[in-house]
Amino acid sequence: MRRAHNRDAGGRSSVLTDTLGVCDAEPGSGFGEQNTMLKKNDEIILKIEDMGADGEGIGKYQGMTFFVKDALMGDVVRAGVTKLKKTYGYARVLEILEASPYRVEPVCAFHRQCGGCQIQALSYEKQLDFKQKKVENNLRRIGGFPEELLQQVMEPIAGMENPFHYRNKAQFPVGTDKDGHVITGFYAGRTHQIIPNRDCALGVPVNREILDRVIGFMEKYHISAYDEKTGKGLVRHILTRYGFATGEIMVCLILNGDSLPHQEELTEALGQLDGMTSISINCNRERSNVILGKQTKTIWGQPCITDYIGNVKYQISPVSFYQVNPAQTEVMYGLALEYANLHGTETVWDLYCGIGTISLFLAQQAKQVYGVEIIPQAIEDARRNARLNQIGNAEFFVGKAEEVLPEFYEKEKAQGRKPRADVIVVDPPRKGCDAKLLDTILKMAPPKVVYVSCDSATLARDLKILCAGGYRLERVRAVDNFCQTVHTECVVGLSRAET
Ligand code: SAH
Repeated sequence: MRRAHNRDAGGRSSVLTDTLGVCDAEPGSGFGEQNTMLKKNDEIILKIEDMGADGEGIGKYQGMTFFVKDALMGDVVRAGVTKLKKTYGYARVLEILEASPYRVEPVCAFHRQCGGCQIQALSYEKQLDFKQKKVENNLRRIGGFPEELLQQVMEPIAGMENPFHYRNKAQFPVGTDKDGHVITGFYAGRTHQIIPNRDCALGVPVNREILDRVIGFMEKYHISAYDEKTGKGLVRHILTRYGFATGEIMVCLILNGDSLPHQEELTEALGQLDGMTSISINCNRERSNVILGKQTKTIWGQPCITDYIGNVKYQISPVSFYQVNPAQTEVMYGLALEYANLHGTETVWDLYCGIGTISLFLAQQAKQVYGVEIIPQAIEDARRNARLNQIGNAEFFVGKAEEVLPEFYEKEKAQGRKPRADVIVVDPPRKGCDAKLLDTILKMAPPKVVYVSCDSATLARDLKILCAGGYRLERVRAVDNFCQTVHTECVVGLSRAET
């Protein structure tokens, strides 16, 4: 193995750029000349100048750009080349020669192996800076919005005071180590090898106690763990949910079978925990990566736990979709409400509504809300939650947003009516909105559109279409729902530009 030295690194290593940028460069965009001398496994020393959208460090070695996993902006690292392309390459950190001033001691010793918290080693302040710039860059590069406009409309990202232990849901795989002990923890990044760890820094602290009691029970009564390779063994996953507003706890054991031997002993042990509300077993005999099976049976307490976002109450079962960071979700929905600027007379559409969380939040200040969601079970939850909160002005439809809204539009028009929408809210999955939906929104031309997004690249693509069709970007605010990871949510307010 050869060690090559980057001339750039040494001399400038203490000169750091002030802000953390997100590199504009994309693999294949043709920067730099290929360094034909380099080979896979070569060691290089380079200074990390920037960070990419997935949190990887970006630095140059003799004019060639390298994407370096686990390196942070400001680090000088010795890295091993893992892959070479014509004009760029990939490398992994072997040693940090000079630590970035933005580097902090990670809270979790396993963060590199796990891969769930891609940027835990970056100070929280810089994480927020990274996300703000990521959104801004996408809006500029993909959306084509000028920098001056973005400076006017972008508000500072909303971060958390305590960016750990915010997740209300966790799913821990269960397995057996080479000595035959039952273990639980997380899958090592992109594999199905379980690394034992009962103290995930994103989950609620009570998870530790729950896992100790379940594993203790399994050991005592010789209950086997599932083995993915053979398809044998009983316990596959332990799912926990926690209601931050109520303190209610749910535990669900996912089994390769439909019953749990000695279940009373387990419910006795878990039932002693303060706040324990629901214990269930879920049967999943499929040999696939899907965690939950179709049948769930409550074996102790209630089938659901209750939680609140703002003053709206939700009942959550083991299979319900529910936002994982309720504190930041409230911030996000608060912004959606603010941008919608409702006075009680409006008709609002909430597309991609999930269990109706945004719909019910907005219904309190609108005349009528229509929610559309593709998963029937989620719509059942939405209707139940509307009843639970005695909200009578929210109606829900099962279907694709890009089919339900255009059909409504065509039907109204055919009957000689103007299809009514004062505000349209969209909250699509990462792939963004379907073109047909955007087209219908432009035809319906509501005075306001609120776009809630978990992927700022597709957000930027869609905003470009909406703005070309007559909307004006009014407000943009990122909300950090996924602290320690590279992901962020974003809420955007648009109004119809005056014609
Ligand atoms: N607004 C909800 C859920 C957002 S997640 C909340 O804040 O909790 C996005 C939702 O879009 C998911 O529930 C997913 O099932 C749904 N979805 C995905 N594709 C869809 C489509 N084409 N039409 C309608 N809903 C869709």
